[in-house]
This record gives sequence, structure tokens and C-alpha cells, in this order.
Amino acid sequence: MKAIVIGSGIAGLSAAIALRKAGLQVVLYERAPVLTEVGAGISLWANALRALDTIGAGAAVRERLQPLRVSEFRGDEGRTIAASFPASTLEAALGYQPVLGMIHRAELVDALASCLPAGTARYGFDVTAVRDSGAHVEVAFANGHRDVADLVIGADGIHSKIRALLGDASPPRYAGYTCVRGITAMPSGMQPGYLAEWWGRGSRVGITTLRDRRVYWWATINASPNQRIDGLRAWLSEHFGGWADPVPELMATTPDGAFLQNDIVDRPPTRNWYRGRCLLIGDAAHPTTPNLGQGGCLAIEDAACLQHLFAQSRPLDDIFSAFVARRYARTTAITRDSDRLGRIGQWSSRTACWWRDAVTKRILPVIGVRELLKHARHVE
Ligand SMILES: Cc1cc2nc3c(=O)[nH]c(=O)nc-3n(C[C@H](O)[C@H](O)[C@H](O)COP(=O)(O)OP(=O)(O)OC[C@H]3O[C@@H](n4cnc5c(N)ncnc54)[C@H](O)[C@@H]3O)c2cc1C
Repeated sequence: MKAIVIGSGIAGLSAAIALRKAGLQVVLYERAPVLTEVGAGISLWANALRALDTIGAGAAVRERLQPLRVSEFRGDEGRTIAASFPASTLEAALGYQPVLGMIHRAELVDALASCLPAGTARYGFDVTAVRDSGAHVEVAFANGHRDVADLVIGADGIHSKIRALLGDASPPRYAGYTCVRGITAMPSGMQPGYLAEWWGRGSRVGITTLRDRRVYWWATINASPNQRIDGLRAWLSEHFGGWADPVPELMATTPDGAFLQNDIVDRPPTRNWYRGRCLLIGDAAHPTTPNLGQGGCLAIEDAACLQHLFAQSRPLDDIFSAFVARRYARTTAITRDSDRLGRIGQWSSRTACWWRDAVTKRILPVIGVRELLKHARHVE
């Protein structure tokens, strides 16, 4: 059986590896001229690391991973600690380690790509049309190339063309806040394995450490949609200059040109992930806001799920409907929890934030381990 995978992001690369492991012939087509990812980090929870092991990419990714050592939650724009959890506590409760690892996105996609034989992934192919004849499916590309397969996996991200070709061309849903990200050198005093989320009023900052003494940070702020912020450095200093250190320092030491800005979006969950011989996975199917750090992890789980299903040699329609049945509840729970967490995290009223921070300080030390592990326990 031959599969065409569209997109060489986390979902597409993981799916290509998994489908090959299940015995399929796979060709992956990517629009970009070369393998590429944005200059930012990504956290991979235990659920994703387990799924990477299932598809056979665990070792390649772990080589580039910075395991979590301590995670911390702060309020009052970083001035007070709400709760702190050593990784060992989380790992003892989970029975797996690491509970979470941090990695540069470019290193993650390199690691995944290294698990595919040369020639599997083809770059510079922008899909323009998909024609399902019932017996086969034909994919056309902007450069004139055409290919025919038994199935197509649409792993082409939140603005998925395959999703639109299957009939849903609706725009993503804006969450109400924009996000700036950057990578810089680790300041003195910070230890590898540190991960933190700091909450303010209408804004939050996340700090994670990568291998080789680098820090990946992100900052969210309530904003109207589609704002392109000119002079990001000055804008960050205006909004975060008064936060506790090292936040202003991390932003100030990030090199020019290394800032990324994205509006945070998702889609209301839907089950319309396949039609005929085409199936959507990853952000193309179930994009979530990043508040739980699980969007990429879910994409890897999707691949592990496909591997199990294709290994059973069932009819394609059965496999696709079983995929939706297995993945819909899981991805929907994360999309909803993540959206809810983001809304609370972005509260801006002084009274609401005072109340939120006071409650968080009381309950997080008690329920924190359970909440942090809620979605990381899943085994796909
Ligand atoms: C600020 C932020 C922080 C995040 N942090 C985390 C985190 O810590 N942990 C986590 O697990 N997740 C995180 N996520 C979510 C994660 O980034 C996504 O869920 C993940 O990247 C989705 O992967 P994907 O392969 O489905 O889509 P994408 O990464 O978008 O890949 C899609 C690929 O398809 C290609 N493509 C698109 N159109 C075409 C076409 N017409 N023809 C051919 N190719 C095409 C694109 O070029 C791209 O390479 C975060 C997201 C954001 C925005």
C-alpha cells in the first residue's frame, strides 16, 4: 500500500516514520524548498516521548533533548513563587522519565528526518489539488508534478490546504492574545532543566532551557488579531521591563532577528478528519492553543496511533474511522483544557488576577502534580 504524506512538520515526519514501520510505501511532500522549522523551542511530554519510542524515533530525539529538572509557577509578574515541582516528584508519580524534555524545533525535525531513508521526503512541492477516484487518490502540485497513491495523509498544519480541499475552508479561531518567542544564552544563575511559567495581568511569560546552555522563552499579551508589532524589542521592554529578573534580561539579550510573533489560534473540535482516501492529522485536524504544550505531542501520538491501526491490515475506511474514534476525545480534551487555561492566564483585571494568584498559591501545591500529569499519562 502506498501513502502520500503532505507536510514535513512534526506530524508529517512522525507519520511517515510510523507508516513505513507499519509496512507502507511512503512519499512525503513538503512545500518549503528545504527541511525547516521556526527558531523556537518545544516541550515534549512523556506521552509524546512514549509515542516516539513506539514509532522508533525515541533515541534520535532523546539525544537532543534537555530533560526537565524543576518546574516553577510564579505570580505577580514573577515576583512570587506559587509552586515548584522537582522532576523527580513528577517522575515518581508518573512512573516514567523524563516527564518532559525541551528541544529546539529545528533539532526535533532533524532528528525525525534522520529516521527516514534518503529520498522519502521531497521538498519544494506545494499541493494544489487532490482527486479521489475511489480506487486511488491523485495529488497535484504547483510545480506540475503529480503522484498517485492508495491514501493521502494531510499533515499540512493549521492552515491546511487538504482540510480545505476536504470541504472545511473556515479560518482558525483567534484566542485573544499574541505570542512573542525567542532563544538566547542561559543567564548565570539559571540551571539546565529549569522550566517556568510566570503570570501577570493580561500577559504571561514561559521560560525553558535547551541543551547547550540556551534558553527558549515565550511571552503572551492580550491584543487585537493580526497586529504586526513594529519594534518588538521596545514593545517587549514596555510590557515586560518591570517584571522580575531574568525576564527583562532574556528579552534584552535575544539577538535582533531572533524574535518570532504569532497570534494564538486553534479550531473548535470537529470529527471531520477524513473523506474517502484522505485523512487529516496533527494541527490540520485538531489544532490547540499552546497553553498545555501538547499540540506537537498530539501530532506524534497521531502517528503512533496510525502505526497500530495500519499494522492490523484492515480496510482503509475502518482504519480512518477507528483513528477518529480513538483520537477525537483525547485531542478535544486537550484543546478545551488548553483554551480554558489560556483564558484564565490572560485575565487582566487587577482584582481577578489578585484572586487567581491567591487561589493558585493555595491549590497548586496540592493538586499540581495531578494536573501536570493529567495529559502526560496517556499511552498511544
Ligand atoms: C507559540 C507556540 C508554542 C507551542 N509550544 C508547544 C510545545 O511546547 N509543545 C507542543 O507539543 N506543541 C507546542 N506547540 C504546538 C506545535 O507547534 C504544533 O502543534 C505542531 O507544530 C503541529 O505540527 P504539524 O506538523 O501538524 O503542523 P506544522 O508544524 O504547521 O507543519 C505543517 C507542514 O506542512 C507544510 N505545508 C503546508 N501547506 C502545504 C502545502 N500546500 N503543500 C505541502 N506542504 C505544505 C508546511 O510548510 C509545514 O512544514 C506550540 C505552538 C505555538 C504556536
